[in-house]
Amino acid sequence: MTATSLLPWRPKPKTNELFSSWLRRLALGNSEKIQTFCHLLWPGRQLWNRDTDAIAPAEILLSLASRTGRNISVLEKTTLRAFEGVVFEEVRVKVATRSVLPLGVYHRTRRLGGQQWCPACLEEDAQPYYRLDWRLAFSTSCSKHGVILHDRCPSCGEPAVPHRGVDPQCHLCGFDRRMSPVAVADSRALQLEHAMRAVAYGTGTPPPPLRDLHPLAYFDLTRQVFSIVSSNPRSSRLRETVCRYFGGDPSPPSRAIKSAAFENLSTADRHRTVAIGARLLDGWPFNFVGLCAEAGMWKSWAMRGDQRHIPFAYARPVETFLQPR
Ligand SMILES: [Zn+2]
Ligand SMILES: [Zn+2]
Repeated sequence: MTATSLLPWRPKPKTNELFSSWLRRLALGNSEKIQTFCHLLWPGRQLWNRDTDAIAPAEILLSLASRTGRNISVLEKTTLRAFEGVVFEEVRVKVATRSVLPLGVYHRTRRLGGQQWCPACLEEDAQPYYRLDWRLAFSTSCSKHGVILHDRCPSCGEPAVPHRGVDPQCHLCGFDRRMSPVAVADSRALQLEHAMRAVAYGTGTPPPPLRDLHPLAYFDLTRQVFSIVSSNPRSSRLRETVCRYFGGDPSPPSRAIKSAAFENLSTADRHRTVAIGARLLDGWPFNFVGLCAEAGMWKSWAMRGDQRHIPFAYARPVETFLQPR
């Protein structure tokens, strides 16, 4: 391997493969160690002690495009920027990006379970790889296998750090992520997430009656619903009301910090939230306003949150129907 030529092994990114996952496979196909590979190509550049999938510097992508003979637009689509203008306005580097799971990068390790995985997908892959949408907060299940994703090692509780150790084994305890226990996903959450992923990847439109919304407004609306379900002073009454009529699990998020952003909840907590959110979004806005009124989720509560991200399609029914009597 010389410093400028085409690399000897140049795998194509797999379907929906995440940038860091592809880069890891590329590095290990050409070198014994990921760090050696990166050091040879980009001496002095630190790629792994930050969220590489969010940052993915342009010069690194350009260099990779020329070293692999691939179009840079193909590589761009493996980074979280693929969802810009659709799921969120833009990837934020210094602060949290809406709907993206934070990794909590701290030196060489990670404190948060922002890198989710489906054990059945990893098991099926000839070469296990990580999907781009596993980094999104509303993705808590796998459409293909109907199971709930994992966000922490079932054996030691550490987040996944695939570029460390021998992936798909946990870098800390060696547990094989393909062996993670499978839990069947809630069917309403599965349907909703499947539709949301299609919108995120540009292969589908929001389900009716929200079909005509711009994707950004659609993702803002759903996130606002998830937020009042999970971390609002009236959340528990709302969860109990929804579950009484439509089933589901009303228990509170296990790390119940009152102001915890949706993105900071565990996968299991977000899954229960999405399941309840799906029941509220059905037949928008009538289920939503009826259930909110019954739960006492009046306007002052329902409108809590970042006002710049509350779309008109959410604010209008709240203004019209959720004024306290
Ligand atoms: Zn799967
Ligand atoms: Zn472990």
